[in-house]
Amino acid sequence: MEELRVRRIREGTVIDHIPPGKALKVLSILGISGSEGTVVAVLMNVESRKLGKKDIVKLEGRFLTRDEVDEIALVAPTATINIIRDYEVAEKFSLTLPKVLEGIVRCPNPRCVSNVPGEPVVSRLELVDPERGLYRCHYCGRLVEVSEMEELLLQ
Ligand SMILES: [Zn+2]
Repeated sequence: MEELRVRRIREGTVIDHIPPGKALKVLSILGISGSEGTVVAVLMNVESRKLGKKDIVKLEGRFLTRDEVDEIALVAPTATINIIRDYEVAEKFSLTLPKVLEGIVRCPNPRCVSNVPGEPVVSRLELVDPERGLYRCHYCGRLVEVSEMEELLLQ
C-alpha cells in the first residue's frame, strides 16, 4: 500500500494523535480558517496503531500559546505536540489536562456569577479528578466533565 506523505515542515508545529474527526475543531481553536496565509496540512482518519484512526495537523511557521495548548487538551486529550525547527523535532510533549481553566470555558450553570453579564468575574474551573477529567466551578461548585467542554469554550 502506498504511504500517504505530506511535505515535512521546516519550522512550526505538528499536532499528532488527534482523535479522528477533531482536526477541524483544533484548527478552529487556533483561529485558523485558511485566510491567514499559514501553510496548513490536515490529515484526517489516518491509520494509527495507538488510536485505530487519528487526525494530524501540520502548521508551517506557527507555534502555540499556553492557552491554545490547554484548549486543545480539552477536545483532543490524546494529541501530542511536536515543535519543529530546521526540519527536526526540537520538542515533543503530550497533553495533560490543565489544573485550572481561567477564562477558557464557561460554567454551564446559567445562574453562576461568572455568567452574569456586567459582572467582572472571569470563569474559573478547577480540575478535581484528573482520572475522570472532572472539573468544578470555583464560584458555584458545578461539576463539569471534559467531554462537555467543547460546547462551553469561550471565544
Ligand atoms: Zn459556576
